[in-house]
Amino acid sequence: MNGAGRVYDFWLVCTRCGTSHPALPLYQCRACGGSLEVAYDYERIFSRLPFDRMSARTASGIWKYRELLPVFPGTDPVTLGEGGTPLLPSWRMGSTEGGFQLYLKNESANPTLAFKDRSLSVALTAARQFGMTEVVCASTGNTGVAAAAYAARAGLRCTVYIPATTPPEKLEAMKAYGARLEMVSGSFSDAYATSADEALRLGAFNLTSTYLNPHAVEGNKTLAYEIFTSLQAVPDWIVIPVGAGPLLSGCYKGFREMLLAGVIDQLPRMVGVQASGCAPILQAFEEGRQEVRPWGGSTATLASGIADPLSTYPEDGTRTLAVIRESGGVAIGVSDLDMHHCRRMLAEREGILAELSSVTAVAAVKALYDSGAIRAGELVTAVVTGHGIKDMTAAINFEKTGVE
Ligand SMILES: *Cc1c(COP(=O)(O)O)cnc(C)c1O
Ligand SMILES: [Zn+2]
Repeated sequence: MNGAGRVYDFWLVCTRCGTSHPALPLYQCRACGGSLEVAYDYERIFSRLPFDRMSARTASGIWKYRELLPVFPGTDPVTLGEGGTPLLPSWRMGSTEGGFQLYLKNESANPTLAFKDRSLSVALTAARQFGMTEVVCASTGNTGVAAAAYAARAGLRCTVYIPATTPPEKLEAMKAYGARLEMVSGSFSDAYATSADEALRLGAFNLTSTYLNPHAVEGNKTLAYEIFTSLQAVPDWIVIPVGAGPLLSGCYKGFREMLLAGVIDQLPRMVGVQASGCAPILQAFEEGRQEVRPWGGSTATLASGIADPLSTYPEDGTRTLAVIRESGGVAIGVSDLDMHHCRRMLAEREGILAELSSVTAVAAVKALYDSGAIRAGELVTAVVTGHGIKDMTAAINFEKTGVE
């Protein structure tokens, strides 16, 4: 806890009422039921070890920054070498077409080929330090694959609740890592509810990658540390595909921490990109609302990694929308057709094969430049969140429909 009796440099705080809780495996505020976030005693952390010295450590990937992650001192990380992914200049976009500078943060270079490895490495480390033997999650694919891999590494039992729309490549990967799979009818939101019930029943740590598990969300901050360390500059825009949005808000939190540490003096504008066929956060942004409502229609998109209607937890979307607005950023939608063109362009002209959900970030950069939002001379980073090889069936199905 913060205050005199504090044992560690971090604790949990309610994002709704501000009540502090010790860093235990909690998912909701005990006072009001609101979602929780990890808070830190930054002064104490940075006075012992300045941010630059963390960055300069030889340890690879996210664990360079372990003092800024919610793990107890002395806990061995559950790691597969996540983070430290390349930040690649885009030769075909930006510099040649628009006179802005575009960098692609290639998260498909992570051990299970998506950024989820950052949060699952932290979450499994937390699960082990709490002495848990079992983990569960709801997943549209990449969280389940990463949870299965890191649970295998940690020696914990893992059950993944999946909607029927989960790509077969990802299902096979989860099975290969030894996870137990439970199919749930309906959308990701239905799988979310089932996993929450089962976590309670089994006494398991719930790793679902919404804002549910505050420990997991923290892993996403390391993306910001790495982008800044690679560029030695803060991008004007950071463009991120968004389901519920913990990647986007985690990344922004990382920049806010560097501001507090005195290593940067400005924050980036955050762009949240959704599939036009399932875009509850975009809808609220466009209608000028503060509160996100569940997506009313069907989830009409093949971008399974971001197709989250937020049916039973729209307040997660509200949290993300608040970050986008606070940063001076925007929410934007990309159609499936544009995703397919962009996926091909990225593969053929940049050598990066990305999954449909991921290419939305690059497609959005083009749309933002065309609309005049991104200006000449600006520095832009788009996050390529996951690898196309895990999503080949969607590409094949799309080709079959003959829309070109
Ligand atoms: C999970 C995921 C996202 C969305 O991230 P959120 O933090 O859930 O908003 C985007 N792209 C890919 C490939 C993903 O797996
Ligand atoms: Zn509360």
